[in-house]
Amino acid sequence: MKVTFLGHASFKIEEDGKIIYVDPWLTGPTSPITVDDVDKADIVLVTHDHGDHGYAEALGICKNTGATFIAINELAHKAGSQGVKDIHTLNIGGSVNIGGVVVTLVQAFHSCGVGAPTGFVVRFPSGTFYHAGDTGVFASMSLFADLYSPIDLVLIPIGSYFTCDVHQAALATKLLKPKNVIPMHYDTFPVIEANPEKFKHLVSETSPDTNVIILKPGEETEI
Ligand code: ZN
Repeated sequence: MKVTFLGHASFKIEEDGKIIYVDPWLTGPTSPITVDDVDKADIVLVTHDHGDHGYAEALGICKNTGATFIAINELAHKAGSQGVKDIHTLNIGGSVNIGGVVVTLVQAFHSCGVGAPTGFVVRFPSGTFYHAGDTGVFASMSLFADLYSPIDLVLIPIGSYFTCDVHQAALATKLLKPKNVIPMHYDTFPVIEANPEKFKHLVSETSPDTNVIILKPGEETEI
């Protein structure tokens, strides 16, 4: 699984020949690319409609590439009404299989304008990742470990103020038992400054089998 961090909560994930963008806030201050740089995409996922999660950019990517847009029911219908041809209108707990990639919508504890805030569990034939969206920690993350184990990668916010802080994110990691975790949603604005090394230290104490990967915007890793 090739993972490229596009800043804030935005990721490009490539596996089994598929290209997925999650929360592509490509107009954000730390994004290394723009919508026009995206010439190929298969699936675009948006966790909720706050501006820093790239709903507007997702529309552009889908229109330019023909990618499938997946979000919670109301937000996906809105994308359809704004000209995106291929939409899936999931709701919490629901899944759709896109050419062998199973995308499941899961809850997040946050707020939003349209629909409800969400996260995504994505199962490729050869690997699984969970993007938590914007959320605080919640105990039923342990159910995701039961349902989707082994989770190869978790993307978890650590910036506090709007989401988990480093302590909650470390507990989330313990509940989810992933092979790898990447902290996100920090340092973009002053109110969400956080220390990813502190997160790494906490995870090393409570989840010694989980590898913490800290990426700067534009960096990529293979897991
Ligand atoms: Zn948000």
